[in-house]
Amino acid sequence: MSEKLVIRNIGLILTGKIEAPIQDGDCVVAVDGKITAVGYEKDLDTSGAATIVDAHGVTIAPGLIDSHIHPVVGDYTPRQQQLHWIDSTLNGGVTTLISAGEVHMPGRPKDIVGLKAMAIAAQRWYENFRPSGVKVHAGAPVIEQGMEEQDFKDMADAGVTLIGEVGLGTVKDGPTAKKMIDWARKYGMQSTIHTGGPSIPGSGLIDADIVLEAGTDVIGHINGGHSALPDDQIVCLCESCQAGLEIVHNGNERAALLTLNTARELDQLDRVILGTDGPAGSGVQPLGILRMIAMLSSLGNVPAEIAMCFGNGNTARQRELDTGLMEAGYCADFVLMDQAQHAPGKTILESIQLGNLPGVGMTVIDGVIRSHRSRNTPPAGKLPEVLG
Ligand SMILES: [Zn+2]
Repeated sequence: MSEKLVIRNIGLILTGKIEAPIQDGDCVVAVDGKITAVGYEKDLDTSGAATIVDAHGVTIAPGLIDSHIHPVVGDYTPRQQQLHWIDSTLNGGVTTLISAGEVHMPGRPKDIVGLKAMAIAAQRWYENFRPSGVKVHAGAPVIEQGMEEQDFKDMADAGVTLIGEVGLGTVKDGPTAKKMIDWARKYGMQSTIHTGGPSIPGSGLIDADIVLEAGTDVIGHINGGHSALPDDQIVCLCESCQAGLEIVHNGNERAALLTLNTARELDQLDRVILGTDGPAGSGVQPLGILRMIAMLSSLGNVPAEIAMCFGNGNTARQRELDTGLMEAGYCADFVLMDQAQHAPGKTILESIQLGNLPGVGMTVIDGVIRSHRSRNTPPAGKLPEVLG
């Protein structure tokens, strides 16, 4: 693929960069699926485009990233017997999904050779097949008692880059978790942990002491999934380490706001990242990331352009992804959106800060248009148009 995409007549460019969330300009150019230029059309080389999109004044942002999902296979989850939940999520502006463990696989192997095999297979089947074009980073094994350093090396050598939620398997104590997470990190694997009370029968409590001792890269659902830790433990987690503070749709919204407010007091809003934790007992949430952004912006008094960064750029940086930031060299993964019809507020940003969802008008992944007017969000006021 050697194709040029030009998106012109953009009303507002959001960057995903929490230190500079808005960029001047009206045009984005991508070649071969990567961003090559962002700025004013009059200053950019827009010649030879295979695809030109007239944004008609809508807002563009890096595609949203869900830091916490539980996929199984393809665009199907047996958890709530849902088909096409990933396609629905794309219609909510999400272009990248990160597995926190393929825990809903019926008959999931818990013996070590079996769990390693499934991690490798899950990594492969989502690498080889992207539902509706969505990037799914999967193959996130749940660690079990008895695993040795060689097991982590074997998985890393085979392409596994993630460790699923610590605590969903038989490892629920700090010392064992720390030993295994250190091995995972040694071989370049990122890790997360189940924080809070049990999610479903079979899972257990993971408190702040265990989270801190395990030392995972991300504090998975710091606001609980569903049951949150007591307030003092959440504050302690924010204050005592530098791990990602992952807030999920599936968790406790009051604890989400406590996390946000604590991170702001610490001047560490760059640590806040978002996930849905779906599919789960509460179902799937195609608009979950947009809903978190609107909730945290409105109830947490965060400017909408900053809250958007929780759902793309912060996660990209935390997870070391090549997407989620509006910058040359990054993947041309975008969501185009506008203030929803009849939503209060003078601008899209004010509308979000009043708690309203924007309307998604288009998504782009690797420079290719993947969806048009969302079937799930409220209808956008203005819609982008493909010119050719
Ligand atoms: Zn969990």
